[in-house]
Amino acid sequence: MSICIFCEIIAGRAEASVVYADDSVVAILDRAPATVGHVLVIPRTHMAGPADADDAVGAAIWRTAQRVSVALRASGLRCDGVWLSLADGEAAGQEVSHLHLHVVPRYPGDGVVVTADWKERSRELLDQDAALIRKALT
Ligand SMILES: [Zn+2]
Repeated sequence: MSICIFCEIIAGRAEASVVYADDSVVAILDRAPATVGHVLVIPRTHMAGPADADDAVGAAIWRTAQRVSVALRASGLRCDGVWLSLADGEAAGQEVSHLHLHVVPRYPGDGVVVTADWKERSRELLDQDAALIRKALT
């Protein structure tokens, strides 16, 4: 098994700029930020994605993201809005296979680009899609 950089940071064996830490999560600055102040909220226990997180860890991640979002706006760093992003799986763009939620300060002209081939989908197809997802929910 390869070394997980986030586990190394949490264990104190790799450096990071910590903005928050408690018993469940650590929030650090991304070393290659999309914008200045880009924070990663990371559970202390190694897990690949949200499906591995129990409710307590999920709540801790969300609570921390909320607090960091508020702090970013008050920090003096440029932050007119906040973008939350979580990539679950390599196909989704997850680069470190340890669950992490991005908290990214946003402002006009920040250079962050989120692209997709947005297409209107018919109500009939949306309802079919919704039925598949409802059936899969456990
Ligand atoms: Zn890890």
